[in-house]
Amino acid sequence: MPELPEVETIRRHLAPHVEGRVLTALDVRDERWCRPLAGEELAAAVRGRRVEALGRRGKYLVWELEDDVHLMLHLRMTGTLLLDPPEPPRYARVRFALDDGRELYFDDPRRFGTGELALGGDARDAFFAARLGVEPFSADFTSAHLYALTKVSRAPIKAFLLDQRKVAGVGNIYADEALFRAGIHPLRPAGQLTRKQVAALRDAVVTSLEAGVAAKGASIDDFRHPDGVEGTFQDRFLIHLREGEPCQVCGRPVRKLRAAGRGTYACEKCQPRPRQGPSKNRRRGAQAATRNSDRRPDRSAAASS
Ligand SMILES: [Zn+2]
Repeated sequence: MPELPEVETIRRHLAPHVEGRVLTALDVRDERWCRPLAGEELAAAVRGRRVEALGRRGKYLVWELEDDVHLMLHLRMTGTLLLDPPEPPRYARVRFALDDGRELYFDDPRRFGTGELALGGDARDAFFAARLGVEPFSADFTSAHLYALTKVSRAPIKAFLLDQRKVAGVGNIYADEALFRAGIHPLRPAGQLTRKQVAALRDAVVTSLEAGVAAKGASIDDFRHPDGVEGTFQDRFLIHLREGEPCQVCGRPVRKLRAAGRGTYACEKCQPRPRQGPSKNRRRGAQAATRNSDRRPDRSAAASS
């Protein structure tokens, strides 16, 4: 699934082509994309409006249109936007037409992507407030802010990072990369992290996302750029998908484990497993996720998925 760097890459690529142009038509070929709104209702609300800016919030691409109309796109698993493809893509669900004759297709084989409309900045802000937490590239993403969020969490830190209502835009790849950079085990309870660890994690999240943006995103699954070019971040993963390879810091084999239901990669020397020791969190049941993860690596759990 595209994460913040992949969506940001798409935004940067498309913005010069769409900003200042007028959307002359929006052809919704799959009504599921924008339900409960009917395709024609959504099309009527955006048709004829100038694109003032192409923005991004978390993993959403935001079309800011004339008269404070906002169209929020989420690509989900397999969605991609193709600008002027030689022929309409096979799984085109939506076609955008611009006043200079260019066409943009939303191609989405698995059909999980969505398009949602907000009339007015307040409606847009309410939409995001209900779904997204702090934006990692914003000035609000401080270690103090992150520490306040982790302190009251009972989730393992990997699950915490994947929760879009906490930090927006981080998914499976960049959570693994950030935790490795910060030296924090993915199963460590978020509420047990020290201020120092949280400060390291805050910086690691930003550094990992910036590295992803610099490489124009990772090309795994079905992620493609609007012109079909592929990003190269997958070649630069420090830890993600590197099971069995030597850790780039200590040389021990990278392990694959399962955290938050996702295949997760870690070096258990550089990112020590949480120990079950006396802790104020213990009585609150915060240890549940780490109950079987004393100092001995739990091979059965680690081998799955
Ligand atoms: Zn290591």
